Amino acid sequence: MGAVADSEGGGFYLEGTAQDITERKAAEARVQFLAYHDDLTGLPNRVLFEDRLAQARRRQERVAVLWLDLDNFKTINDSLGHSVGNLLLKQVGERLHRHTRAQDTVAKVGGDEFIFALVNPGPLSRAATAVKRIRRVVAHVFEVQGHVLNVTCSIGVSLFPDDGADSETLLKNADLAMYCAKENGRNNCQFFTAELNARVVERLTLENSLRVAVKKQELFLVYQPQLEIASGRISGGEALLRWRHPELGLVAPDRFIPIAENSGLIVPIGEWVLRTACTQARCWQDLGLPPLPIAVNVSAVQLHQGHFLPLIRRVLDETGLAPQYLELELTERVLLSNTGKMLSLMQDLAGMGLPLSIDDFGAGYSSLGYLQDLPICKLKIDRSFMRAMMANPRDATITAAVIGMGHSLNLKVLAEGVETEEQMSFLRAHGCDEIQGFYFSQPLEADAFAEKVRTSWRQPDLPRFARKLLSATAAAPRNHEDVACSSR
Ligand code: C2E
Ligand code: MG
Ligand code: MG
Repeated sequence: MGAVADSEGGGFYLEGTAQDITERKAAEARVQFLAYHDDLTGLPNRVLFEDRLAQARRRQERVAVLWLDLDNFKTINDSLGHSVGNLLLKQVGERLHRHTRAQDTVAKVGGDEFIFALVNPGPLSRAATAVKRIRRVVAHVFEVQGHVLNVTCSIGVSLFPDDGADSETLLKNADLAMYCAKENGRNNCQFFTAELNARVVERLTLENSLRVAVKKQELFLVYQPQLEIASGRISGGEALLRWRHPELGLVAPDRFIPIAENSGLIVPIGEWVLRTACTQARCWQDLGLPPLPIAVNVSAVQLHQGHFLPLIRRVLDETGLAPQYLELELTERVLLSNTGKMLSLMQDLAGMGLPLSIDDFGAGYSSLGYLQDLPICKLKIDRSFMRAMMANPRDATITAAVIGMGHSLNLKVLAEGVETEEQMSFLRAHGCDEIQGFYFSQPLEADAFAEKVRTSWRQPDLPRFARKLLSATAAAPRNHEDVACSSR
């Protein structure tokens, strides 16, 4: 565009080409929008969120910062596909936005995470009520492409100014509280506290020492015998991991396995467990002990990392253990995630001849229906059933029903956590196949386990009447009597 002199009157006029810039303007606006908003949901992104949070802080307003994470979103994404996952996130975003007050902000960060700034949330009880309302809003059923989805979420909360002076600290603390809410079983809310922080610091310290535990030979395995009720003999054993920490002493697996799983350390540790258990099982067989399957616990993380099948092949090959003597214990949670892939992996493992069992059966996810499609041979009833059974006759009925249903699916049934004669008699009366628990034996070091097997095969553990009958007719196989087995 330029000014041109008018040839007649000495004036000027403007000459140029006109261009429709609506499209360009729209594109610019979109770029501008995306700089501050999430592409998928249209909600503010972290940049805009932090800006609004900073404004509220400058105005000296109290703010509750919430970190919301959808529970099991990955399962939905994996099983129903990304497009359903994305549509669900959109709907969640819309719903959250609709229920947010004008002075508050809800933003989307990460894959399935939303953050909130609730301005002047009032006393703690009112903030807690607001959080509850948000959880209720999410808990209402969603309908996505014909799928009815029930979604829950876990929320962590930090408060300005109590829990941090800047948005980075506030968000970090809300996120940390959210992780603790998840650990407490999901579908939960957790406010940040100093103790929570201390717990996380402890966790990180443990994680760091766990990182070198294998190399420093601080890990070892113990073996808990499993007793076959009908024969009174040990029919197998479960390898259980132990950690002797140089300062803390013996750390229980319930304390360090979750840390190993969250940090991915369970992959090298799990490999060490497999190799050690197989080496030990083969050593016992070489020394003439009756060949028994040894069960190893396998975490979901190990199965999902993709190299599990070749690892099993390699370990069996290296240790020379036949596959029928390596039993793998999987939990129900493993099976519920990523079912298609998991099923084919299980079929491959079973095809190789490994016995598969379901561990902790009934601990929260029970459904016998799906079991019939799985290539498994054993159900291990969770130990909580044993505890409940003695207190409540109704629970005893449920245990009996689980045994019956397991049998109707052609599965062996083992009861875990059997501690008393009373429980044992009940299980015997209801046809349970095997037991594992302090009633028969604590987990033992390798030498003690071998000794226990020898004794058990010489002198089966049967009720008195059956023992008399047996001693009159049978003796244990001779070649198992004089076994000297060294575990190391
Ligand atoms: P689990 O696989 O269900 O193992 C059985 C747990 O019950 C063991 O706890 C065992 O010591 C305990 N137990 C056995 N008999 C009784 C009883 O009569 N009463 C009671 N109250 N408890 C009994 P432990 O060794 O502390 O292991 C806890 C959990 O840690 C295991 O539960 C398993 O889920 C996990 N774990 C242990 N070793 C490994 C491992 O090598 N890899 C993985 N991924 N997880 C492991
Ligand atoms: Mg187990
Ligand atoms: Mg168990």
